[in-house]
Parts: sequence; C-alpha cells; structure tokens
Amino acid sequence: MSKITNYDKICSVCSEKAEGYNFCALTCQPCKAFFRRNAFKLQKYKCRFGDNCQINVKTRKFCKKCRLKKCFAIGMNKDWILNEEERRVRNEKIETNRQSKQLYQKQYKQLVNK
Ligand SMILES: [Zn+2]
Ligand SMILES: [Zn+2]
Repeated sequence: MSKITNYDKICSVCSEKAEGYNFCALTCQPCKAFFRRNAFKLQKYKCRFGDNCQINVKTRKFCKKCRLKKCFAIGMNKDWILNEEERRVRNEKIETNRQSKQLYQKQYKQLVNK
C-alpha cells in the first residue's frame, strides 16, 4: 500500500480522504465497506428526502439509499464484490490444500520411520 501518494485523493462518494480504488472507483475505506455490505440491498432502503441527498463525510450516514446510489453513479460495480469473494474462497482452498499436503507428508514420514 502506497500511503504517500494517497494524500491528495478524495473519495468520489463522500469526499473524505480516499484510500484507493475499490470496486472500480476511488473511495475511502468506510465507503468501500459500506458498498460491500449494501450493494445488494438497494431496494431495501428508502430516502426520506426525495432521492437527491448531498453525500459528504457528515451526511453519508444519514441516507443509505442516496449513498448507495452515488456509489453506483460514480462507477462502483457490485460484480467486483463477487469476484473478491470468489478470490477469497479460492485462496482459502489453496491454503487448505497446502495444509492437508503438509499433514499427509508428515503422516507419510511417520509411517516410513516406523
Ligand atoms: Zn467515502
Ligand atoms: Zn437520500
């Protein structure tokens, strides 16, 4: 992670200091987490103010609907959440394979040494 080059980047959703590209858009860490948690729940949320809230660091918590809409508007792509999830699952599988291989080798050595 290159922290030094990030200081002048701002989140496209709430204008906080951005941490980098998340799901295809420049966002801060909280917006990234927000998007990951809520990207599939857009229908659940309702805006109390006419669907056109200004989203910034202070207001981003007040309206999930408009924040989420803004996430999509600036190009965040929920397909990437699935990709990320798939990648995580795959990494875990590789890790499990590696562990079972080590276990197998250990058992094999024990057998040979008897
Ligand atoms: Zn943000
Ligand atoms: Zn709203």
